[in-house]
Amino acid sequence: MAKYVFITGGVVSSLGKGITAASVGTLLKKRGFKVSIIKVDPYLNVDAGTMNPFQHGEVFVTDDGAETDLDLGHYERFIDEPLCSENTVTTGKIYARVIEKERRGAYLGGTVQVIPHITNDIQERLVQAGEGRDVVIVEIGGTVGDIEGLPFLEAIRQMSNRVGRENVIYCHVTLIPWLEAARELKTKPTQHSVQELRRIGILPNILVCRTSHPMDEDMKNKIALFCTVPPEAVIEVPDEPTIYNVPLSLYHRKLDSLILKYLSISCEKEPDLSDWALVVDRFMNAPKSVEIALVGKYIQHKDAYLSVVEALYHAGISHNVKVKVRSVESTDVETQGVEAMLSGADGILIPGGFGSRGIEGKIATVRHARENKIPLLGICLGMQMMVIEYARNVCRLAGAHSQEMDPATIHPVIHLMQDQVGLDKLGGTMRLGAYNCDLVAGTAAARAYGAERISERHRHRYEFNNTYRQRLEDAGLKVSGICTERDLVEIVELPAHPWFVGGQFHAELKSRPIRPHPLFVAFVGAAIENQEKN
Ligand code: GLN
Repeated sequence: MAKYVFITGGVVSSLGKGITAASVGTLLKKRGFKVSIIKVDPYLNVDAGTMNPFQHGEVFVTDDGAETDLDLGHYERFIDEPLCSENTVTTGKIYARVIEKERRGAYLGGTVQVIPHITNDIQERLVQAGEGRDVVIVEIGGTVGDIEGLPFLEAIRQMSNRVGRENVIYCHVTLIPWLEAARELKTKPTQHSVQELRRIGILPNILVCRTSHPMDEDMKNKIALFCTVPPEAVIEVPDEPTIYNVPLSLYHRKLDSLILKYLSISCEKEPDLSDWALVVDRFMNAPKSVEIALVGKYIQHKDAYLSVVEALYHAGISHNVKVKVRSVESTDVETQGVEAMLSGADGILIPGGFGSRGIEGKIATVRHARENKIPLLGICLGMQMMVIEYARNVCRLAGAHSQEMDPATIHPVIHLMQDQVGLDKLGGTMRLGAYNCDLVAGTAAARAYGAERISERHRHRYEFNNTYRQRLEDAGLKVSGICTERDLVEIVELPAHPWFVGGQFHAELKSRPIRPHPLFVAFVGAAIENQEKN
């Protein structure tokens, strides 16, 4: 039976609970355990699919098509395993199932209540996720004391009864703030947050203390005394220069061995973290750098393109160069021109996005990259813009558009397919999750992947319109990847260009620090060559 590590957060949000959970996952997996990670989000949305990137950052998509919180991306990158819809739980998802059961009469006329029906549903999901696993790590989103988090805290409190006290530990991530006026670290907020946890029946076993200044032994002993944990369980975690260092840092602070000790799991094997050490070393000390312009439409939110930026870093690490990302707002390209916004970039990446704002700036960006032979990687919306730009400016197809930009277009080279029309409130079902893609031999895509068939994740409504395929191909835009089962164009490229590749899928979602994505590796490689040429 699985054992559980519950990770809660106190004092403030954004303490890095997600990275802590992911790093614990890395360490336990490297010690040979079968690990799963679950993110619990106390919001009422059933999933993250409808959430605005300006508010919530990127939506991470799993192979089975779940639209999830971006923490799942951290988990996948850190534990190097694909996750699925089971790994994400929201209040909305729980209530939807309980209410659906109530309507079916599954509760036999009983009164349906938060306790036990909601809390039981939560626990059933946690138990199910434990099947075939040694350890399940569960991160509770939000901060202790939030009203909406209470049913989840109650459920994890009850888990110690359900699976046995010895199979459950609670790890509380908290802040020890530095007061400049007093020139002192303060423990009181942590004491209060632990009191709040105790009030609802949870006694934390381990405190992960985030600090900006080093803690001395006296302070650790004080926290231990007031929070009823052994001094060894007060783990100080300073800010790290890169998140990739967190698994190494937590290992040196013995968080993983403490977790195993408290869960009574014996383990002789020490984790081999040499690959992570190499990642950190190269990320911090790469001798050269390249600059990639990221031309997006949600750039004010630092996490809106999180996985794209991570994938660029991973590719940089594999080439031992530092990737500097220049964030460019595509509407600024429209108002200030391509030269002002893009000159000097060694490569250009146009990521995914929704809606028509900023589209013309992206099309102008594609033209700039195509005509000036700057390496270009287009992702989803980016790939669609590459097709439109080619249709307009090379094929001279007047009125070439995407139906998303203008539903009444003359030449919708990117269109909504008939079987998608009107199927949901937003005007079409999304193609979500993993699809196979066959690569055309001899193309840049096939060279990058070194494979004939790949699988990538999707999240979009619009597709390349096959009506125009022949005209575009005749004009030199090569189709190099096809979803054969559905006859859909997945990758386009320009053989007459140093590196110009667009994919209908989100390649960034499968990149890992220790296993960078082949398309990103090839793209960054081309950007390095471009820099060397100039
Ligand atoms: N908005 C486009 C579509 O729905 C692209 C989506 C995306 O980039 N993820 O097809």
